Amino acid sequence: MRLRQVQPSLSCLQVGSMNPDSTSAPASGEERVLRGVAAAPGIAIGRAFILDHGSSVRESVTVSVHHVADEIARFHGALEAVLEALHRASDLAARQSTTAMAIIETYTMMVRDPTMSDSVLQRIERGVSAEAAVAQEFDMHKTALLRTQNELMRSRVQDIDTIKEQIIGALRNRTLHHAAGYDSIVVAPNVTPQDMLLFQQTQTLGYVTEVGGINSHTCILARDLNYPAVVGIGTATQLIPQDANIIVDGYSGTVVVHPTPETLEHYRQKQIRAEEYREKLGALVQKESTTTDGVRIQLLANVDEPDHVDAALMTGAEGIGLVRSETMLMHFGRYPTEDEQVAWYRDIAERMYPHPVTIRAFDVGGDKFRQGIPHHEENPALGLRGIRFLLHRSDLFEQQVLAILRASVHRNIRLLLPMISTLEEVAAARSVIAAAQQTLHRRGLPFDEQLAVGVMIETPASAMMADAFAEVADFLSIGTNDLAQYALAADRTNDMVADLYDAFHPAVLRMLVMVVESARKFHRRVSVCGELAGHAAATELLIGLGISELSVAPRLLLEVKQRVLACSHAQCAQMVRELGSCKTTSEVYHVLRTMVPTS
Ligand code: PEP
Ligand code: MG
Repeated sequence: MRLRQVQPSLSCLQVGSMNPDSTSAPASGEERVLRGVAAAPGIAIGRAFILDHGSSVRESVTVSVHHVADEIARFHGALEAVLEALHRASDLAARQSTTAMAIIETYTMMVRDPTMSDSVLQRIERGVSAEAAVAQEFDMHKTALLRTQNELMRSRVQDIDTIKEQIIGALRNRTLHHAAGYDSIVVAPNVTPQDMLLFQQTQTLGYVTEVGGINSHTCILARDLNYPAVVGIGTATQLIPQDANIIVDGYSGTVVVHPTPETLEHYRQKQIRAEEYREKLGALVQKESTTTDGVRIQLLANVDEPDHVDAALMTGAEGIGLVRSETMLMHFGRYPTEDEQVAWYRDIAERMYPHPVTIRAFDVGGDKFRQGIPHHEENPALGLRGIRFLLHRSDLFEQQVLAILRASVHRNIRLLLPMISTLEEVAAARSVIAAAQQTLHRRGLPFDEQLAVGVMIETPASAMMADAFAEVADFLSIGTNDLAQYALAADRTNDMVADLYDAFHPAVLRMLVMVVESARKFHRRVSVCGELAGHAAATELLIGLGISELSVAPRLLLEVKQRVLACSHAQCAQMVRELGSCKTTSEVYHVLRTMVPTS
């Protein structure tokens, strides 16, 4: 079998069969909340339709020499049946989803693989039954994949299981009555892409599966076909009775079994709100954010905690541009353990997958969480804050990096360093990261070896030296809140100097120009994640400056998108040229008002 044929990030799924036993559990009872992985956003409310796989095969099953020819014929028949089913599914896929097409094609290649069938036939000729020969062959490849350190390859194991189960299912003449899933939520150990396409014709509402990481095809396809889905609830088919009323919350990864009337009402309202929001700005959620002259602007969301990811997903954020991880400290009231942190980061990364998630290391100090700051500071904003504190307490920093690395297995996490003002700080941070990587190697734990490390540009020093920082960082992120505070020497929390604190000040704008140019010189991504990114008057300005990544609060995202869609990059750039001669903040506002009527 040629494993390299397993191309897209597949996984799981097998032909299911109706599970008569699962009807034995009562269809009504006490409310119960099951937690899994949020695989595809949306809320589904309906009755459960349980499938099971019945996949266990006794590998030692042997056949007498007289039956070898029969077993070979059965095996060929099973391959034909699976190929036929894949062919039917591929017709449906062609009309509905290119992702599904790619998956079906990969599966077809795996079933057609002559190396695989030759090897199975040799086992049968040695007296092994067709089912056992298939199981042995596929399990051998599965074991080899499980031994690799590569998480992506390991996630392919589910594809192997999928195909194995399909062939074995065909050998046992198992068929699935997709119509039985009419108007229901499918609960299964796994669901094949073919099944998902067939279920789609019977108005299936959503999915709950026992296996399937966020790389799995169940998730990719569910997202593609707009099905709310929760995966990874280990014994879902036993915990959820056939026909039970259930709620699938694909935003938070929870499944409620036997919801009380109050819970039902709560989720109906959530469903209605999501629908209304989608309808109102619905067209925008799906729309690519591109200016009228075709310049692509990536819109990401700022979140403080996993619960905010729902909102980011609903607005169609293309990733998380800033996770303020210090919020976790306020939640716990202390520094959480490594495992507690892993769970937190993983939750966000998995829910956002495959989109990128930028986790900023604890920005402790200043006006934020201060636990661990050794003594009173006269001037906390200029004190032991962000990277300064992290390097002072490198034990806490290393623990956080370990947790972020451990959560990075799906390769959609980036690490961002706050309050950088010297190159030495970046070098010291990189040493801590390298030490954490060594620790994980020693522990034998997987992580993203290529984890991108970015520098926050939020001090005048880092803005003025942006070229030096662009050279050593993988990406830059501009924190305009602090950049304005430090550039203008105006405390962002002090009302007395509120009139001075303004990110539209020409000094701040000049720094933005320097940062963008430096990032361009070193081919680094640069985003703006401060409040300026979501400011109603700043979209055209930032686009004109050459910023192509904005990270804003989820509730602002679609409004920013609306403005992106309405403006021309060329005109924005022209406006920025005019702004170049402004010497005061009011002149900046004046130009903005003339060029952008709404500001
Ligand atoms: C910023 O300074 O712009 C920023 C995004 O970080 P924070 O507001 O958390 O300091
Ligand atoms: Mg900041």
